[in-house]
Amino acid sequence: MGELKPDCWICKTLREPAHLIFFESRTSVGKLNPDQYFRGYSFVTLKWHDEELYQLTDKNRRSFLEDMSRVARALAKTFNPDKMNYELLGNGMPHLHWHLVPRYKTDPMWGRPIWTGSRRRRRLTREEYETLVKQVQSQLAG
Ligand SMILES: [Zn+2]
Repeated sequence: MGELKPDCWICKTLREPAHLIFFESRTSVGKLNPDQYFRGYSFVTLKWHDEELYQLTDKNRRSFLEDMSRVARALAKTFNPDKMNYELLGNGMPHLHWHLVPRYKTDPMWGRPIWTGSRRRRRLTREEYETLVKQVQSQLAG
């Protein structure tokens, strides 16, 4: 198991904000993106600081990938998107974290990556986030 890195924002905020977290395993933390413009947009973040998939041990990489797939399935069951996007970029913040972005035919950027052009942001109320967290957790349990 690796270590946290003092100057890494993702290491510092691994379990924040707490009310957005819906999943934790040996390797990963799963939480909603505060920006819910794409309904169900979530992150699955490695619990220690590593920057490349190929640097993980086989065991940790398998676990991280399985966690991501398991969360993606739960998000798909909860939000019923037309497509799931899986992105592991790390250009701005190199700490390994998946963007799981449910995509809908109704979204204005359908057919394109979410990073092209400008997009609006959408914040929810505390209660709305908590409802989504419970819905995803019930799919993870099932
Ligand atoms: Zn980090």
